[in-house]
Amino acid sequence: MGSTKVIVSKFGGSSMKDADAIRRSAKIAADHHSSLVVVSATYGTTNQLIEIAKTAQTLPWEETLPMIEAIKENHRQIAKDLGATAADSEEIEILLSELETLAKGINLLKDAPVKVMDRLQSLGERLSSPLMTIALRDTQEKKTENFDVRKVMLTTDQFGKGVPQIKEIQELCQKYLLAAKYGDQTFVTQGFIGATSEGETTTLGRGGSDYSAALLAEGLGADLLEIWTDVAGIATTDPRICPEARPINEITFQEAAELAVFGAKILHPTTLAPVQRVAIPVFVGSSYEPDAPGTWIKAQSGHQPLVRAMAIKKDQALLTLTTPKMLDSHGFLAKIFSFFEKHKVSVDAITTSEISVAMTVDITTLQNKELFKDLETVGTVSTEKSLSLVSLIGNNINHTPGLAQKVFTSIHNESEPINVRMICLGASRHNFCLVVNEDQANLAVKRLHKTFIEDSL
Ligand code: ADP
Ligand code: ASP
Ligand code: MG
Repeated sequence: MGSTKVIVSKFGGSSMKDADAIRRSAKIAADHHSSLVVVSATYGTTNQLIEIAKTAQTLPWEETLPMIEAIKENHRQIAKDLGATAADSEEIEILLSELETLAKGINLLKDAPVKVMDRLQSLGERLSSPLMTIALRDTQEKKTENFDVRKVMLTTDQFGKGVPQIKEIQELCQKYLLAAKYGDQTFVTQGFIGATSEGETTTLGRGGSDYSAALLAEGLGADLLEIWTDVAGIATTDPRICPEARPINEITFQEAAELAVFGAKILHPTTLAPVQRVAIPVFVGSSYEPDAPGTWIKAQSGHQPLVRAMAIKKDQALLTLTTPKMLDSHGFLAKIFSFFEKHKVSVDAITTSEISVAMTVDITTLQNKELFKDLETVGTVSTEKSLSLVSLIGNNINHTPGLAQKVFTSIHNESEPINVRMICLGASRHNFCLVVNEDQANLAVKRLHKTFIEDSL
């Protein structure tokens, strides 16, 4: 029997890049006695699969073929480097021929409906999990088995963004994954993908493997969720934007969830909801530096700074709906939001005046003609593009006098002024948002980071 702790460990694309990275990740899983290992596609593969679909739809087959060959070659090479058996290779070849068949179908039909896109993208994770299984089998004595997550990850048929069915997932985890729970077996499974009750493959949205791992941790009643990535934990901001970013040792669920929702790519936005429901602590660390301190996400943290971190959410558009009918009347906002609900569009930040309401939405919303048709029945809609949402995440933000002034002083600079298009303050204890032009968002974060993190220590 292994450890009595039930640990779910998730390895992202960069931790699954090649045979060395996969071996390193397998060693972490073995050393930590992981019960369930959840993997992403190998680095870049999901993007390549999406490119294949685009090419197959528009260009002759000869253009698509080399792209398929590249994925085949990469996975065969990794399998070989990991010492795959004939049976392992056969399993991988079956998946590679499915890839070719699907791409051929897209090429013939010159169409790739979302349902087909989900099936195609699922191949990334369905190919990487047997690779991790080979590596882990060679690293530990405990029995290791590749498990098809579609048996337990039940979602709605909203292809491209399937909504996980929490209760059923829990029941299915208890039915199929008990051997992992009681320590005599490790399952390796796929992040990002699920299936409808009809057995059709779905995905949870880009970056969704973190969310899968959290749902499985909840379903299994795990003691710990580990998210292994390419940085040693959550930092005060994205280190790619601001090299001065500092590691955060401990952060609360609420703060980390705000960071994820407001754009910090390190965690998929919905990751924390399942583990927060059942208070499973989360560790975020680098598979390249497994002994680095990393970040602990917990229900409570001893230190509650005013500003813990900051994030950027790019590709935002601002919708402003203006109507004199809003004046002195009620039910308007409810009506507007019923349209957002109907079209399944989420709004990130909102402000209202007496006759208008301004909302930020993802840029892709601008293509939603039906939503606009509905909104125009209640007022005039204007749109602005190329915006980013910059957020300060911390504690007691809405009750701290002088904070707004400090934010504005910090981002103001005569030589390069930053135009703040909208602010949102007051709704959350944990968040202060600014909408700025996309090309000034990094600069805004650097200036805020200097004031609130670098100069305040
Ligand atoms: P994975 O493939 O392991 O899921 P991702 O690329 O999705 O990894 O997420 C890791 C990346 O998130 C980091 O390389 C980093 O650039 C980015 N990131 C964004 N915000 C933060 C933050 N606050 N702290 C650490 N990394 C961040
Ligand atoms: N492979 C998927 C993606 O690239 C899911 C993930 O990595 O989390 O979006
Ligand atoms: Mg990710």
